[in-house]
Amino acid sequence: MKIAILSRNRKLYSTARLVEAAKKRGHEVRVIDHIRCFMDMGTDNPSIHYKDEEFNKGDFDAVIPRIGSSVTFYGTAVVRQFEMMGIYCVNESVAISRSRDKLRSIQLLSRKGVGIPVTAFANSPDDVSGLIREVGGAPLVIKLLEGTQGIGVVLAETKKAAESVIEAFMGVKSNILIQEFIKEAGGSDIRCFVVGGEVIAAMQRTAPAGEFRSNLHRGGSAELVQLTKEEKAAAVKAAEIMGLNVCGVDLLRSSRGPLIMEVNSSPGLEGIEEATKKDVAGMIIEFIEVNAKPNATATRGKG
Ligand code: ADP
Repeated sequence: MKIAILSRNRKLYSTARLVEAAKKRGHEVRVIDHIRCFMDMGTDNPSIHYKDEEFNKGDFDAVIPRIGSSVTFYGTAVVRQFEMMGIYCVNESVAISRSRDKLRSIQLLSRKGVGIPVTAFANSPDDVSGLIREVGGAPLVIKLLEGTQGIGVVLAETKKAAESVIEAFMGVKSNILIQEFIKEAGGSDIRCFVVGGEVIAAMQRTAPAGEFRSNLHRGGSAELVQLTKEEKAAAVKAAEIMGLNVCGVDLLRSSRGPLIMEVNSSPGLEGIEEATKKDVAGMIIEFIEVNAKPNATATRGKG
């Protein structure tokens, strides 16, 4: 097969591993920087221009989008253009956009009955105390909607601290959400790597001492974890609701069962492959081999 990986940098671990896995399985593979693609609309044959080349329908059999959150808008437009050309994209543009919108994701997950931490959002409430009461009072977590890698995620231990932080964020016109603090998670979360409706690998990430955020970028450590049936089912359902074939589903272990925090459409491979010693890149390529065939049907999300 001819596979295109949309990535800004071929040296990134995840990109390099996907290239390696595709080649090992006998495929032709190219890394394309989506930011440098341009597209013309309104013609009968949608195509993509890249440097001095033009890509058309037959040039690729499958596309693996690895779109960073800072370029979601343009990146998903490029993925959409590949879709318009009739090329199979392992994650569809609409599913990537859906999962990048934190509010929309939380609303969808909650509507479909997936467990999530009690969450409230507001633009400019007159009643900050009421908002805090909504999630059960302090301690609580305040999150910047645009944040990634744990930046802009704040634990407010007291009501006073919560009020100050909420007012400060609102004062600079930042969009935030407020969430109950899941204390019993003990500074750990679980990343479930879902491919084709199955959890193919999972790791527990634990925050360093004195920190509640377990992001590996914030010094968290990762180890292999055994999931319960309930946790597996929650992760698979979250992926299905988002309509993502390949994704990372992050959940917290709470006293009332697994609570989904986030679904990531371009999950990193380094931490999960290291912690689980699994060939996650190979499993993604294998999934594409089965599903990129003509007339294959991909998972589609709702809403
Ligand atoms: P980001 O998308 O920036 O990584 P997250 O929402 O995943 O932000 O939060 C970062 C980390 O903070 C999580 O991995 C988790 O360890 C911790 N965390 C987030 N929300 C909660 C919560 N409601 N209760 C307890 N810990 C949380």
